[in-house]
Amino acid sequence: MTVPLASAHAAAPTPPGPGLALGSASASGLATAGESTPAAALGTRLVHAGRDPAKYHGFVNTPLFRASTVLSPTVGDLLGRTQPYVYGRRGTPTSEALEQAVCELEGGAGAVLCPSGLSACTLALLSCLSPGDHLLVTDAVYGPVRHACEGVLRRLGVEVSYFPPGIGAGLVHWLRPNTRALYLESPGSLSMEVQDVPALAAIAHQHGVTVLADSSWATPLFFQAHARGVDLSIQAGTKYLSGHADGMLGTVSASAAAWPALKSLHGDLGLCVGADDIFLALRGLRTLQVRLHQHERGALVVARWLQQQPEVARVLHPALPRSPGHELWLRDFTGSSGLFTVVLKPVPFAAVEAFLNGLRLFGLGYSWGGFESLALPLDASQGRLPQLCEPGCHCVRLHIGLEDPGDLMADLREGLDRMASVDMDSLL
Ligand SMILES: *Cc1c(COP(=O)(O)O)cnc(C)c1O
Repeated sequence: MTVPLASAHAAAPTPPGPGLALGSASASGLATAGESTPAAALGTRLVHAGRDPAKYHGFVNTPLFRASTVLSPTVGDLLGRTQPYVYGRRGTPTSEALEQAVCELEGGAGAVLCPSGLSACTLALLSCLSPGDHLLVTDAVYGPVRHACEGVLRRLGVEVSYFPPGIGAGLVHWLRPNTRALYLESPGSLSMEVQDVPALAAIAHQHGVTVLADSSWATPLFFQAHARGVDLSIQAGTKYLSGHADGMLGTVSASAAAWPALKSLHGDLGLCVGADDIFLALRGLRTLQVRLHQHERGALVVARWLQQQPEVARVLHPALPRSPGHELWLRDFTGSSGLFTVVLKPVPFAAVEAFLNGLRLFGLGYSWGGFESLALPLDASQGRLPQLCEPGCHCVRLHIGLEDPGDLMADLREGLDRMASVDMDSLL
């Protein structure tokens, strides 16, 4: 596939063709995928997308180009822009490799890279909103995106409303004549509520509304956003794409209709990503399938076990039957990942601290998607959690890494025992 990357202008979108990323098959030893060849499975694409060893003397990986200036042989070449690359900010073979891979995995018409997941969210929003427009946002949105909506978007004259994620067909009642964009996140942050993306997107499209969705939790491997009606598909590449807790990056993939405005604003804002972070994301992509399957297996074992523990009120994990939107997850997703929320029965916060402070294998920290397990105490008055928890409950978000689930459960059980003993002391 050709993603119009190095062009100085918003180029016409080039729709992806089946198997095009396997086009450099000469070097990889695969038969060239022609039009009659069925599109390769996503797992195969993850390995081959955005890679062209024949271009680089047969070396398997795309080299890192650290670049600002690109020299031209003559004035004619410089002014005529005869070369594929003109300036580091506008794209290098390294950035193009990841853009092409993301575009192919998402099934979009074009993709751009951003220096963080949050910048990918805000870029996508700004690409389709103008003063006087109305924006509809899921109430389970990632907190910093809500902050951007309340801050910069309102300052620019955009009206913002937050709708309950389970609204489904009721979305029509939230539309205004000036509604221009619908922002989804499924499952949503903290509450893990799964949305009916195809139904919401269909309603939006009937009213000329652009659909954005952050699908960092599922990645394109477990949720094909464009195929479900999303125009701008956002990934916090910091999370599973990079996968090793050592890079910051975001991606936006666009449908043909949404691509020109996205590409143009991405250029105007001067967004680009350093070669090292791109390399880490490309490296992460190659193992995304095996990592995600292991995160999925481990998280399901731990989540089901937590449901049985007496200290736990509820586990919010889309693949568990009583989690909000579970049926939609069954219908629309092909897997679940390692992040979920545990609602604890009411205890003093000091007991939650005792639980978390002594954990040996779970780190305490923000972000997720790396190979390691993480725990994070949540403010149960935050976002949609009050709707899902009894008063007085505390919540803990867990990311299940690639460790052995038995070891993780032993660590958690010790923590729950510490929690129970603090609770007892405080009652005496
Ligand atoms: C972490 C996260 C982001 C932001 O990604 P950064 O790379 O940390 O900026 C966006 N959306 C969701 C759902 C996230 O969890």
